Amino acid sequence: MVDTIVIGAGVAGAVVAGQLARKKNEKVLLIDRRSHIGGNCYDEYDEYGILIHKYGPHIFHTNDETVYEYFSEYTDWILFGHEVKANVYGKLICVPFNLNTLHMVYEKEKADRIEKILIDEYGLNSRVPILELKKSENSEIREVAQYVYDNIFLKYTMKQWGKKPEEVDEGVTARVPVVISRDNRYFMDKYQGMPKLGYTKMFEKICDHKNIEVRLNTQFSDILKIEKDKVIFEGKEFNGKVVFTGMIDELLDYKYGRLPYRSLEFDFIHYDKDDYQGCSVVNYTVDEEYTRITEFKHLTKQENTNGTTIVKEYPREYNGENTPYYAINNDKNDECYNKYLNEAKKIKNLYLLGRLAEYKYYNIDVIAARALEFVKNTN
Ligand code: FAD
Ligand code: UDP
Repeated sequence: MVDTIVIGAGVAGAVVAGQLARKKNEKVLLIDRRSHIGGNCYDEYDEYGILIHKYGPHIFHTNDETVYEYFSEYTDWILFGHEVKANVYGKLICVPFNLNTLHMVYEKEKADRIEKILIDEYGLNSRVPILELKKSENSEIREVAQYVYDNIFLKYTMKQWGKKPEEVDEGVTARVPVVISRDNRYFMDKYQGMPKLGYTKMFEKICDHKNIEVRLNTQFSDILKIEKDKVIFEGKEFNGKVVFTGMIDELLDYKYGRLPYRSLEFDFIHYDKDDYQGCSVVNYTVDEEYTRITEFKHLTKQENTNGTTIVKEYPREYNGENTPYYAINNDKNDECYNKYLNEAKKIKNLYLLGRLAEYKYYNIDVIAARALEFVKNTN
C-alpha cells in the first residue's frame, strides 16, 4: 500500500519522502523521470575520476539552522566561503562588486573618496541592488553604478535571460547586490560549502529507508492520471497525498498554454593539465557566449586529480525538449501560473512543491525548508 506518491526526486521530493517515511511512518512511492535522484543537484564522477555537477555548479549556502542541521544528519561538509571572479576584458575582478573591487577598478584617491561616500550613504556591510544604486542622486555613486551595470550586469543578464537587467524581475539581479564591505564571498550566509562526499551520496542516504520505494526513469503520466479532479493510480482513485515537484503546466496538459522557462546547455571539457583557471567560478560578464566557467576541482576541493574538468554554461530558450531550469517571473507569466494553480487546487490531495511546481527562483535551502515545513504541517 502507498500512502503518498512523490513526483520528482530532487531536493523537494527527496526531503519530503525522507521525512514522511521517518517522521510519519508513511509508505512513499518516489518517482523521477531521470535515471537518478538528486534533481539538479546531482553530481557524479566523470571518466577522469573528477566529481562534476551534471546540471551546473551547486554551492549549498544557508542561514537556516534547521535546514543545516537537517542535511547534517545525512552528510559531513566541506565548508568554505564561495568566491566568484568576473572576467572583464581579460581582467579578473571580484563579484559581487564590493569595496575591494572598487579599488581594483579605480585609482587609489578616487576609490578612497567613493568608498567613503558609499559607506556614508548606505552604511558599512549593506547590500545594494544595482538597479537601486543606479538611481542615486550622487553623481560619483551613479558613475560606479554605471560601471557595474555595464561591466557586470548588462551582457551577462542579456545572455542569461535574453533581456536587460531592468526588464527582468528585480529580485533576479538583487541576488547579486553591490556589497559595501571588503568581504569577497559570493554569499553572505553563515553556512556555505559542499556535502563532503557529494550531493548524490547525501540524497541517497535521505532516500534510503524501508518505507521508500524509488522508481527512476518514470514519468508521472506513466503511473498517474488526473480525471475530473481526481488522481487515478493503478486503475483506481488514489486518496493518499500526491506531492508534485515538476512543471504545473505539464501536469495540467498545458491547458492554458506553456509556461516560459530559461534553459541551459552545459559543455564539459577535460584538460590534461593541473589547473585551468586557478579558481572555482569565473563569470564572463562582457564577452563570450557562455555566462560562466566552473572548474570542479576547485569548487569541490578535490586534490590530486588527474587533469581538470570545467563546464561552460550556455543559456538557451526552453523549447519543450530541453530542461527547464529557471522560471521567468513577470506579471504575464505569473498570471498564467496562477490559472494553473487555481485549477490544481481543485484536486484536493495534490500538493505542489519546489522550484518548478511553484514557478519560483528558489535556492536549495529554501526548498528544503519548505519541504520540512510541509511534512510538519500536513496530515
Ligand atoms: P529539481 O532539483 O529540479 O528536481 C525536480 C525533479 O523532478 C527532477 O529530478 C525532475 O527530473 C523531476 N521531474 C520533473 N517533472 C517530472 C515528471 N513529469 N515526472 C517525473 N519526474 C519529474 N541552489 C543553491 O542553493 N545553490 C546553488 O549554487 C545553485 N546553483 C544552481 C545552478 C544552476 C545552473 C541551477 C539551474 C540551479 C541552481 N540552484 C542552486 C537551484 C537548485 O538547483 C534548486 O533550488 C533545487 O534543485 C530545487 O529542487 P527541486 O526539487 O525543486 O527541483
Ligand atoms: N548577474 C550578472 N552578472 C554576474 C552575476 C549575476 O548580471 O556576474 C545577474 C544575472 O542576471 C543573473 C542574476 O544576477 O541571472 C542572478 O545571479 P546568480 O549568480 O544568483 O544566478 P544563478 O547562479 O542562480 O544562475
